[in-house]
Amino acid sequence: MNATKKYYNSLSDYYIGLFGEKVYKLALTASTTCPNRDGKIGNNGCIFCSTVGSGDFASNGALSVKEQILEAKQLIKNKKTNNYIAYFQSYTNTYGNLSQLNSIFNEAVCHPEIAGLSIATRPDCLEAEVLELLSSLNFKKKLWVELGLQTMHQTTADFIRRGYTLDVFEAAVNDLTNLNIDVVVHLIIGLPGESRKMLLETIEYLSNLPVSGVKLQLLHVLKNTDLEKYYSLHPEFLLSLEEYCELVVDCVERLSPSIVIHRLTGDGPKNLLVAPLWSTNKKIVLNTINKKFSERNTYQGKLWNVCP
Ligand code: SF4
Repeated sequence: MNATKKYYNSLSDYYIGLFGEKVYKLALTASTTCPNRDGKIGNNGCIFCSTVGSGDFASNGALSVKEQILEAKQLIKNKKTNNYIAYFQSYTNTYGNLSQLNSIFNEAVCHPEIAGLSIATRPDCLEAEVLELLSSLNFKKKLWVELGLQTMHQTTADFIRRGYTLDVFEAAVNDLTNLNIDVVVHLIIGLPGESRKMLLETIEYLSNLPVSGVKLQLLHVLKNTDLEKYYSLHPEFLLSLEEYCELVVDCVERLSPSIVIHRLTGDGPKNLLVAPLWSTNKKIVLNTINKKFSERNTYQGKLWNVCP
């Protein structure tokens, strides 16, 4: 492998293009819950979701946004920047009292060191008044709304208990893009029952939608989830490092080049991670992905927009 060869642009490059300098994400919390956990849609959540609502690195929700920003900055104090993206990741960040959401997001957006906002949510939690709030934020600072699709296939969606159908997702993408809000879609690679063909169908499907970014996430089996119980009975669905990296390159090659790839793998919280344990060594994962790129005959010198 040619160690100096570059197969994709980094997300850092993408941010520099947007903001003119490096920016880093600060994981904050809006202290919301999720309709797939509080009984509105379901009580047990998606089968892979940890008890903190897939926000394992978020700040303490008991603090004000300003205090959370201070705390989160301390975690990355070695990074040289005064510009950050406020990232609301855990649970469903547009599901809650509207005036509280308004106050939390506006405190973040008005903070002088916050260059943009990234808000993760479900596509079935974007009512008209929420869209109005998001649109107003988007006028103040750059906004990304992240939607957890995971797969286009209803059979898998039922298995993971996602709790909404594809037409709901498409309506949300249209509503957001009509407001000029960038949509980033989360996909999971390695879901039980999902073949390579099914994964690539999801990639092709996304490539034909007006989404601006995608996060490719390795399926992590976390402690105290229903996926952990399933894994104890069916460990064979887990991908090896080689299999995962092959699939990542398959996806990147097929994804529309206009879609920025914000993530290639994923950081499972080490204290909760049951499997696959090879994923804790991010350097090996990224090196293996690069090796796969270098082995492809299809590689034509094109650079994909990817965040390692
Ligand atoms: S929608 Fe998100 S927060 Fe809710 S259960 Fe699923 S993964 Fe967890």
